[in-house]
Amino acid sequence: MKRRDFLKKAGIGVAASAAFGPVFAQAQPSIRWRLASSFPKSLDTIYGAAEVLAERVSALTGGRFQIRPYQAGEIVPGLQVMDAVQQGTVEAGHTASYYFVGKAQVLAFDCAVPFGLTARQQNAWMYYGGGIELFRSIFADFGIIQFPGGNTGAQMGGWFRKEVKTLADLKGLKMRIPGPGGQVMSRLGVVPQVLAGGDIYPALERGTIDATEWVGPYDDEKLGFYKVAKYYYYPGFWEPGPQLSFYVNLKEWQKLPKEYQQAFEVAAAEANLSMLAKYDRVNPPALQRLIKAGVRLRKWPAEIMKAAQKAAFDWYEEEAAKDATYRKVYTAWKAFREEQYRWFGVAELGYETFAFPAL
Ligand code: CA
Repeated sequence: MKRRDFLKKAGIGVAASAAFGPVFAQAQPSIRWRLASSFPKSLDTIYGAAEVLAERVSALTGGRFQIRPYQAGEIVPGLQVMDAVQQGTVEAGHTASYYFVGKAQVLAFDCAVPFGLTARQQNAWMYYGGGIELFRSIFADFGIIQFPGGNTGAQMGGWFRKEVKTLADLKGLKMRIPGPGGQVMSRLGVVPQVLAGGDIYPALERGTIDATEWVGPYDDEKLGFYKVAKYYYYPGFWEPGPQLSFYVNLKEWQKLPKEYQQAFEVAAAEANLSMLAKYDRVNPPALQRLIKAGVRLRKWPAEIMKAAQKAAFDWYEEEAAKDATYRKVYTAWKAFREEQYRWFGVAELGYETFAFPAL
């Protein structure tokens, strides 16, 4: 892809320089959108991406294009954001595409699948590797256009009341782990549970569940899991670089002036970068606080990682055999992933293995 094409896709650099004189301000309409987030305000890094988007769009359009974010449950429940955008209940949404695998399993690749891409690799796939185009063609069938809208970076593997030393220790373990991660863990004998954020702590405290995953040190600390489950596993191999997405109702998008489309695209690209940068700022001190509080960090045993990786790819192959769209995306994704892994295994890993402290 040429640089010019990337700029066009990411919305960078085109509109901001010349278009916002007084003539522009007079000529363009006032537009008000509502954006439904799948997340509560308390998840400030994730929810905050919608605020970054809204503020930047307003600033870039002289205040004429206003987007107001609403947290999960204010207009629609978090898991109904895709329906709400599709039906035009709201013009836009901010969500995780793997919430909607019930509509099409392939949507998980717009967010994260176990043993998938890291945040950088996901951006490479989306902006330069054909990912955005692939998913635009899929989302168009739902009357939606999507934009990468943030990334948490590699997540943690979650909180366990007891140590997990072997594959056998996972059998019958009740773990809060939704989505594709839950699918893979269920193949290892885990009984996945789907619980909303606020319900996890009491269930873990009572022992109704044995374990839970959430995000990473910064978000996990706020929910207090370390008080009732001391073992903190890593990595969250089911979410090595989960991407959030902005959804826009396609008809509303097409009605926007070109300059407003540009403003939206550049703001979405900024939100995509900003979330990851913020997580990288707040996670390290949070991890140190957790360790000081007595948390015991544990790396997943290789036996479990290997079994999980095999289970994941067995499952992808099964899905690909059943569904042509899934097969098309999976085939492209798999080739891209292999190429990325071969490269990241050289300079990045070579440096990191030497320089990063082992725990
Ligand atoms: Ca997670």
